[in-house]
Amino acid sequence: MVQDSVRRFVDEQFMPLIRDAFEQHYFPRNLVAGVAELGLLGSSIEGYDCAGLNSICYGLICQELERGDSGLRSFVSVQSSLVMYPIHAYGSEAQKERWLPAMARGEAIGCFGLTESHGDSDPGNMKTHAVKKGGDWVLNGSKMWITNGPIADAAVVWAATDEGVRGFIVEKDMPGFTAQEIENKFSLRASVTGALFFDDVRVPEENVLPGVVGLKGPLSCLTQARYGITWGVIGAAQACLAEALSYAEDRVLFDRPLTHNQSIQQRLADMSRRITAAQMLSWRLGQLKDAGEMQPTQVSIAKWNNCRMALDIARDARDILGGAGISAEYVAIRHMLNLESVITYEGTETVHQLVVGKELTGVNAF
Ligand SMILES: Cc1cc2nc3c(=O)[nH]c(=O)nc-3n(C[C@H](O)[C@H](O)[C@H](O)COP(=O)(O)OP(=O)(O)OC[C@H]3O[C@@H](n4cnc5c(N)ncnc54)[C@H](O)[C@@H]3O)c2cc1C
Repeated sequence: MVQDSVRRFVDEQFMPLIRDAFEQHYFPRNLVAGVAELGLLGSSIEGYDCAGLNSICYGLICQELERGDSGLRSFVSVQSSLVMYPIHAYGSEAQKERWLPAMARGEAIGCFGLTESHGDSDPGNMKTHAVKKGGDWVLNGSKMWITNGPIADAAVVWAATDEGVRGFIVEKDMPGFTAQEIENKFSLRASVTGALFFDDVRVPEENVLPGVVGLKGPLSCLTQARYGITWGVIGAAQACLAEALSYAEDRVLFDRPLTHNQSIQQRLADMSRRITAAQMLSWRLGQLKDAGEMQPTQVSIAKWNNCRMALDIARDARDILGGAGISAEYVAIRHMLNLESVITYEGTETVHQLVVGKELTGVNAF
């Protein structure tokens, strides 16, 4: 039921808008109310006006959203896994009451600030810092590549302190806090990405997440979001396979439809095989997650495998469409360009390979 409702929403309300949004480089913000109405924001959280769905349902939500566009799924992933999750897992009761229902209703938008311009693969080298002065914290530094940054009402910002890395809820109107949109992206054009700047921003103690100190805070959020990505990219790959199949059925070359060629059938069959294997991986991961047994290394394997699968399929689908494959009339090139971001954010492919390598060899090769 969850999958069908999201699929219908994407087909009826999102697909008519996406081409214009991607070409004109904007996030279709008018859809947020509909997304919230369906219960897709913070859907795994119980209470606080959230849907309380299991992990497979969250995965299917991501899959159906990203069948539309990675930008739409990114919006929901960030709000749910990177903003609402840490507030729910590490926030005070007052923080949860204040933010979670408003975020579930889409009335407040959040963003997650971890990456800095000098390199996110090494988050331990964090320069953004906060110093306690009186009852407040004074925050200085900047964050880069932040999804939803320019439209966020609240940013969960990770900063170094004398105690270790802490999470701060920085509100959009706090003096000294500014956000700037990153323009001219060739990927995720239907998603807003920005840079955040903190110039002596005074953050009250009540806006600090009390429940976690250290990098395990942001890393645990990334594990949640990466899980969603493993499902999301399946949707992008499914959209590309569906388009390549339909195009090959209609395209007549050498007096027969393209689908009558063995090599085309092999390529379509290979896409189907890889999508099915990815689905099995994510489905099993979801079972482990609900049982409280999912390990970050397993998520790394799935994020690496499924992003690579989807990107390869998008490129192959683009090729099956021939010259038409580079046209915005078709979805393959848009998914292909988006997936270049998705394979990079939340840990690059190399980073996930090194996570798995470390688990196998016991050697940290970062
Ligand atoms: C569209 C978009 C949206 C994003 N949204 C967010 C967001 O909402 N919040 C957020 O905090 N961040 C966000 N990010 C940032 C994203 O997570 C980072 O871009 C990503 O983690 C890579 O970090 P980097 O860009 O600094 O690359 P770098 O860390 O500089 O890496 C550069 C290259 O070096 C490789 N590399 C790194 N270390 C090693 C090593 N030890 N050995 C071999 N190779 C290595 C990498 O694999 C990569 O190929 C977003 C990025 C994009 C593009």
